[in-house]
Amino acid sequence: MDESNPNTTPESLPCIGVLAIQGDFDAHAIAIREAGAEAVLVRKPEQLDDIDGLVIPGGESTTFLKFLERDGFLDRLQAFVRTRPTFGTCAGCILLAKEVTHPAQQSLGVLDATVERNAYGRQIDSVIEEAETKLEGGPMELVYIRAPRIAKTGPSVKVLAERDGFPVLVEQGHILAATFHPELSADRRIHRRFVDLVREHSAVRS
Ligand code: GLN
Repeated sequence: MDESNPNTTPESLPCIGVLAIQGDFDAHAIAIREAGAEAVLVRKPEQLDDIDGLVIPGGESTTFLKFLERDGFLDRLQAFVRTRPTFGTCAGCILLAKEVTHPAQQSLGVLDATVERNAYGRQIDSVIEEAETKLEGGPMELVYIRAPRIAKTGPSVKVLAERDGFPVLVEQGHILAATFHPELSADRRIHRRFVDLVREHSAVRS
């Protein structure tokens, strides 16, 4: 494609899958489209072959695991997240972590971090905060719902935002993870960051 051509065709948009097993996958799909990519809902493991990146939404990580195991999805997903751009929010972040505590639970083990489930209490403690992040454009609204806490990160993990001294938005190579729900805010900076990551990754691959 001619990069100097301002008439960008729909074909040039990266295609990002949103895992549509549970959680607010529709809100993520809308956010991805507003951030400048194509979004498809992923319900079958073979769809992973046709996407440039994947969003794993929030929800309940234990339920996610049950569905993924039942559908024979887990192995394909595990292989995908090892090398392909993936953005996990809340339960999605829990699934990506190398270690999960409170209680310990199986995970995809690709984000070099220890994540503690429900670290801020029960549903009633869910909260919306304004916080500074490393992304340009000033403070951002962060929506926490039964949020996990990233208790520990490895050296290759970049921290993009914190809450009470703990990371809440992190990046590690092709992985982006948030303990909050950016799809529930109008601000699209985080989804744009993921679309950029997918574009960079696709450029390296081709
Ligand atoms: N508490 C949920 C879990 O442990 C995550 C909450 C969320 O995704 N909003 O899986």
